[in-house]
Parts: sequence; structure tokens; C-alpha cells
Amino acid sequence: MYNKKAYGLGSVRSVIRELFEYGKQRAAEYGADKVFDFSLGNPSVPPPAAVEEAIIDFVKSTEPVALHGYTSAQGDQGVRKAVAEYINERFGTTFTADCIYMTCGAAAALTIALGAVVTPEIDEVIAVAPYFPEYKVFAEAAGAAFKVLPISKKDFQIDSEALKKMLTPKTAAIILNSPNNPSGVVYNDECLKEVSRVLGSYAKEIGHPIYIIADEPYRELVYGGIVPGYIPNFYKDSIVCYSYSKLLSLPGERIGYIAVNPEAADAKEIYLAVMGAGRALGYVCAPSLMQYVVGRCLRLKPDLEAYEKNRELIYGGLSKIGYECVPPDGAFYLFVKVPGGDAEAFSEKAKEYGVLVVPGDGFGAEGYVRLSYCVAYETIKNALPHFESLYEDFTRKCAH
Ligand code: PLP
Repeated sequence: MYNKKAYGLGSVRSVIRELFEYGKQRAAEYGADKVFDFSLGNPSVPPPAAVEEAIIDFVKSTEPVALHGYTSAQGDQGVRKAVAEYINERFGTTFTADCIYMTCGAAAALTIALGAVVTPEIDEVIAVAPYFPEYKVFAEAAGAAFKVLPISKKDFQIDSEALKKMLTPKTAAIILNSPNNPSGVVYNDECLKEVSRVLGSYAKEIGHPIYIIADEPYRELVYGGIVPGYIPNFYKDSIVCYSYSKLLSLPGERIGYIAVNPEAADAKEIYLAVMGAGRALGYVCAPSLMQYVVGRCLRLKPDLEAYEKNRELIYGGLSKIGYECVPPDGAFYLFVKVPGGDAEAFSEKAKEYGVLVVPGDGFGAEGYVRLSYCVAYETIKNALPHFESLYEDFTRKCAH
């Protein structure tokens, strides 16, 4: 026998993976230069040199049994202290090492954080559309009922009145992801203030906290001088899930952390629940070498130049053709409105032009496709004429 739920999750390949596999197949058939794959969010710039230097230095200069041995379940004390101090320096907060839990990236951070706050009685988790599809999997694995706040504002900021109507005494948490995958939108301070006010006053009414779980793998990937608001400075009952996957181009190394806001009403209990959820999931002792490396590389910034150039080219290029795109303030995604609204059909049609884009339905946003522009600049340049033909072809089809 086997677990049917797990089988279901394992046997259905995600749309993104399907496209990726299709791209590989098409490249083998027609040549790699005939495929324009905008499906995957894999960083396209190498990690900063300082990261590789740190890895080599640790390997060469540290006694190997210690270097590759277990750290504490929640992560190395020195690294956690350095992370906490760095957060405080940047955001004027009061985190300590005992608020930080090192994780295998944001994915593990989210599953642990959800495991820490969802209870059999208070079991609803809200995601804001458009959202990273794995949230549903993570929330349901934690035993939660997954609810989605649909898009209602043109600028993709959060409609706090609509959010208010979704809250119930069973609401445990809301996941906020800014800069956002898939839209590239950064929630502005006004929006964060409103959301915090609505959640805070409802939580008071029902007599238990509603947590904001801030999913922040793209925090440092922002353009045009925008600084995403730091959720703990807006809302006390908050947990930050951070990752170095995108910031340092280390997605395969699986490193990130959870930061429990020390100002939360039950901060100590929540941190212990994080430790417990991590233990129950087997997410103890994130990769030791990577803990030490990020501990040394806290102040590194991503090399945004390549993404910024890609962003300008793809946003400008597609807009010029006639596509309606959500202005991308952060991350490396462009969310494009599909002429006529049928995203599945558009994505299928795009394949005929060798262009791979992900339909937005899986992100809780019908009528859009997502493009990951973490690709070579040349890929975008060469893809633009195909986008143009696709636009003409598809809009003609829609008109009939
Ligand atoms: N959250 C969002 C919004 C993401 O886009 C991703 C990865 O693409 C993750 C979480 C998971 O990231 P990690 O590699 O840190 O587990």
C-alpha cells in the first residue's frame, strides 16, 4: 500500500516542469536556439565570487569533521546571532539568535512556519492571488484549509476590505509574498499598513493572533530604488521566511531561515513550535557548510545588472508589441495579460513559436501568463519577433 495523497502529489507533474521538459525535447529536435524558455525561475547569474571564496576558505581552513558535522537543530549559534544582528541593523528590529531557525530554503521555512501556527481548531491559511502554487501543498500538508484572496485591484496591491470578509475565527495565518512570484509586484507601505490594521483588529475581536507569514526569497531583487516594507515593522505577530536561493543564486544549496518576530505576543512559544515543527518534519540542521557561508556573506547584494537589463528589454519589448504587462518592480518575473483571456490556449499557441510561458491559472490568476526573465539577454532579444508573430496570430484568432 502507499499513501494516495502523496501519490497524487508525486504523480502530477507541475505545469512549469511539463514546459521545461517540453523545451528540452524541442531543443533536441529543432536546436537550442529555436527554444525560448521563460518557464523556470532559476537564477541566471552566477553566485557572487565572495560566496565561492567563502566555500573554498571554509573547506580549506576548517577541520573537516567539525565543518561537515551537525550544527544545533535550529542552526549554528554564531550564524543565527550574525543573521539576527544583520536584520536589526537593517530594519531597526530586536531579533536575537533565539528568534532564528536556519532552514533548507524558503520552502522548508514555509512548511515549518505553517506547521508551527496551524492547529486542528484554527486551521485556515490565506494566500493572496497571484501566489506561488506550492503554498497550497505546504498549507494542506500542515493540515490547513487553503483559501485564496482573489486579485481585485488593477495594481495587484491587496484589497484589505476583501481580506476582512475572508477572515473567520479559524484563520491561522496569511502568507504574503513581496516582491511577488509571479507578478513581480512589491506591496507598498500603505497596503501593508492596511492589511496589518485589518488583521490586528480582527485578531483582537476573536481573541487569538492571526500570523503574517512573510515569504521573502526575492526581497533583495528590486528595481528603481524600491525598498519592500519589512513586515515585522508593520505587524507584531509575524514570521519571516527568507532564502538565499535567488539573492545569492544558490537554489540548489538549500539555505534560508525563519525569523520569528520577538514582538509577537507568543514569540517564545512560536519559536519553540517552529523547533517542534522542524523536528517533526525532519528539517533539522540545515546544510552546515552553507550556514557558515551565508553567515559570512550576509552583506552581499545580488548582481542586479543582468536582471535589470532583461527586465527593461522584455517589459519594453512586449509593451511595444501591444501586450499588457504588470509593471515588474521586483523578482525576475513578468506577468502578462493574455489577449482574449485564455491563458492555456495562449501558452499552447506560444509553443508553436518555440516560446514557453506558464499559464497563470496555477497561480490563482486566470487570464495571465508568467514569464521568467532570468535567462540570457540574447534569448529575450531573439524571442521578441516570435512574441510579435504570436501576438498577431493569437489576437487574430481571438477576433474570430
Ligand atoms: N517562495 C516563492 C515565492 C518562490 O518563488 C520560491 C521558489 O521559487 C520559494 C518560495 C522556494 O524557494 P527556496 O528555493 O528558497 O526553497
